[in-house]
This record gives sequence, C-alpha cells and structure tokens, in this order.
Amino acid sequence: ERFTDYKLSTDITNALNGLGYTLPTEVQRKVIPLVLEQKDLVTKSQTGSGKTASYGIPICELVEWIENKPQALVLTPTRELAVQVKDDLTDIGRFKRIKATAVYGKQPIAIQKTELKQKTHVVVGTPGRVLDHIERDTLPLDKIRYLVIDEADEMLNMGFIEQVETIINKLPRERVTLLFSATLPEKVKNLASNYMKDPIDIEI
Ligand code: AMP
Repeated sequence: ERFTDYKLSTDITNALNGLGYTLPTEVQRKVIPLVLEQKDLVTKSQTGSGKTASYGIPICELVEWIENKPQALVLTPTRELAVQVKDDLTDIGRFKRIKATAVYGKQPIAIQKTELKQKTHVVVGTPGRVLDHIERDTLPLDKIRYLVIDEADEMLNMGFIEQVETIINKLPRERVTLLFSATLPEKVKNLASNYMKDPIDIEI
C-alpha cells in the first residue's frame, strides 16, 4: 500500500514526498482510509508509530481551505506535543497552505488571540488553554467538524479529562471524533462510549 492508493490530492501526496514519507506506517494504513470515510476511531498506538500523520494527513485533506474559522481541534496533554503536532500539520499541509495554530499555557494569551483571529484551519492545544479561549470567545467552535483527543491516557493522568469533557460538550454534534491512546483505562473507554458514535477500535 502506498499513499497514492488513498483518496488524497496531489497537494498532500507531494508534501509527503517532500517529507520523505514513502510508505504509510501500520497505523497510517489502518487510520487514513477510515478517517477519509468520516468514521469515529479509538486507536491504541504508541508515540513513534506515525500516529500524528495518521490523523494529520486525512484532516489536512478534508478541511476546506476557503473557510476562515477552525474546522479541526486537536487536544494534547502537553505544550510540547501541541507544538509538535502543529508543526507536523503545517508540513503536511504546506502545498494546500493549511494554517495550524497551537494554544497552550505559559504563552501570553494575546499572541494566541491575534493568531486565532486570522484564518486557521486546525487548532492544536492543551485543554486548559483551549477552554480559556472558548470562554473568552476567541476560539469559534461552530465550524469544527473534526476532534482529535491525542494521548488520552496522559490526559487522564494529568487530570484533564473533565476539561476535555467540558470542551466536547461545546462542540457541534455533527463531527468526526478520533481518540488515540497508548493504553485504554476505563475512564478513557468511557470517553469513547459517551462522546463517540459507533467508534471502530484499532489496535497497532
Ligand atoms: P509520531 O508517532 O507521530 O510521533 O511520528 C514518529 C516519527 O515518524 C515522526 O518523526 C514522523 O515525522 C515520522 N513519520 C511519520 N509517518 C512516516 C512515514 N510514513 N514514513 C516515514 N516517517 C514517518
């Protein structure tokens, strides 16, 4: 299987070539086609497996460039991961001119507010700061069609699950939800059963 076997535009496949991604990894082979079909997924996979691109590639493909408001929201447990994911999405979406914005604590909120006012296709952030922006009305949610909960077990360990739930409850119901986790403790499974529609389980 190759990236050209999927329904991806040349803007995306050319970017993958440029990144030196010649063949999809296992998680990418399983996840990409299902996200392109708008399925909800619970994916048990480790960091280093290529999981970021497994959701980053189809999300970059599916968002509409013309829309100014964010269409995808990626929640991460740490600032480091948020920045990494934003950089990966920017790389994958280079030729489509996808704009990703990271929001996290410890950076002045004003800088992020300015960024969010401009065209942004994907917002990546830690739950506390994402909620902060939602409460200040600086992060519009009405066009969000894709939600990614990355490293859900870490989110649980760090005590972020309640904030994640508060955010999910504010999102449009008509959306695709993708959950990634290295382990699946009960509370992570509950997140899936409470907020996802007929999720497909994927284990790498
Ligand atoms: P991740 O699991 O998302 O942290 O990705 C691990 C590393 O694999 C990152 O440095 C990616 O840039 C790289 N990577 C992701 N997908 C591919 C691929 N299909 N071919 C080669 N490298 C990849």
